[in-house]
Amino acid sequence: MTIGIIGGGAAGMAAALAAAEQENIQIVLMERQARLGRKLSATGNGRCNLSNIHASKGGYHGDDPHFHEYALSQYPPEETLQWFSGLGLYTVTEASGKVYPYSDQANSVVDVLRFSLDHPNIRVLTDFEVMKVKKDRDRFLVTTKDRTLEFDKLIIACGGLAGTKLGGTMSGYKLLRSFGHKCTRLRPTLVQVKTSWPGVSALKGVRANCRAGIYHNGALHRESVGEIQFTEFGLSGPVIYEISRDACQGGEWECRLDFLPDLPAQSLSDALMMKRNLGLTAEDLFTGILHNRLGRVLVKEAGIKANTPIFQLYDDQLEDVISLVKGFTVTLTEPLGMDAAQVTAGGIVTSEFDPITMESKLVPGLYACGEVLDVDGDCGGYNLQWAWSSGRLAGACASR
Ligand SMILES: Cc1cc2nc3c(=O)[nH]c(=O)nc-3n(C[C@H](O)[C@H](O)[C@H](O)COP(=O)(O)OP(=O)(O)OC[C@H]3O[C@@H](n4cnc5c(N)ncnc54)[C@H](O)[C@@H]3O)c2cc1C
Repeated sequence: MTIGIIGGGAAGMAAALAAAEQENIQIVLMERQARLGRKLSATGNGRCNLSNIHASKGGYHGDDPHFHEYALSQYPPEETLQWFSGLGLYTVTEASGKVYPYSDQANSVVDVLRFSLDHPNIRVLTDFEVMKVKKDRDRFLVTTKDRTLEFDKLIIACGGLAGTKLGGTMSGYKLLRSFGHKCTRLRPTLVQVKTSWPGVSALKGVRANCRAGIYHNGALHRESVGEIQFTEFGLSGPVIYEISRDACQGGEWECRLDFLPDLPAQSLSDALMMKRNLGLTAEDLFTGILHNRLGRVLVKEAGIKANTPIFQLYDDQLEDVISLVKGFTVTLTEPLGMDAAQVTAGGIVTSEFDPITMESKLVPGLYACGEVLDVDGDCGGYNLQWAWSSGRLAGACASR
């Protein structure tokens, strides 16, 4: 039997290795870029957050929020780590549940997969962009600009549109649509969100551990404690990523930041009072407490002149600046686009696939896995875990 796999990313490589566990299967893994796993090698800021040990408990979205469950139950995170260990990859699990390669290098993950794909039954074709697919009686015909290959089974693992510079493309959606599959609305997720606050660019690059509350039309939508990063146009960081799939889809969205979540307002007030005796000016009011640039911006936002001696500040001025530290509010306007996004929310309609096999209900012998389907996970290793689990399930079932 021959299996063609289109897409040499996380899900496609996992599918090829799972299919090769059966004997007498010839597998061709086709990748349009010059090398396998290009996006994978850029994940997790180059560290590759390859899984999350909590991923079997949920954290996935899509029109059918249960579609991922069978794949995750067959190939849960713990088993995935054993699988990687069998491929020669050592991993570290952080207290948060996020899993990284011990080397802290995403390339290590790509390398162990690449080495394992050097298998007598797997042929890897790079710089091989599939333009057209069709089924002619029992055979799948896969066409590039200058050749056509034939397979008994076909797995589409082309990924999503997010991260376009790293290979995100519409291609997988188009190929599956040509078989009659439908696609839900695509939108960027796990992405920075812009703000209308003009001061944000002055904080570009500043990171702060905060309690961040996201408010939709004045009501608390989500809250978590963690790192926020200021960017040229807006905010980034896990809590922002988590709301980016819904943010700004109508109504008013705000982010309220408490920059000192463990310090009650009264303790902060006491700490600032002590600074009155140090002969400092207001620009150093938060020196030693907050990131210097952040402290100065907050002082300015409170309408206090930087060169005002701290001992001359009125109580209500101190109260104003403390309320900014404990509840700085900015309006969120829109998420950045697919270029900047890590993941695509939406995708090929999952009700047209069997979650037990990943096989199409419309076209027997056709399979899909990974981000091309309407499944997206939370920030923290969930998306790669979905790619491994769904890819291995598709590969194992296609090879039977
Ligand atoms: C910057 C960034 C950082 C990320 N960090 C993390 C992280 O730390 N943890 C995490 O869990 N997730 C992370 N993600 C998300 C994760 O990388 C993806 O969800 C995952 O790679 C999806 O796997 P996939 O195999 O479905 O798609 P991909 O990995 O995108 O692979 C699809 C492959 O198919 C190829 N292809 C497409 N069309 C064709 C065609 N017509 N012919 C041939 N080949 C084709 C593409 O070139 C690509 O190589 C990150 C994403 C980005 C962009």
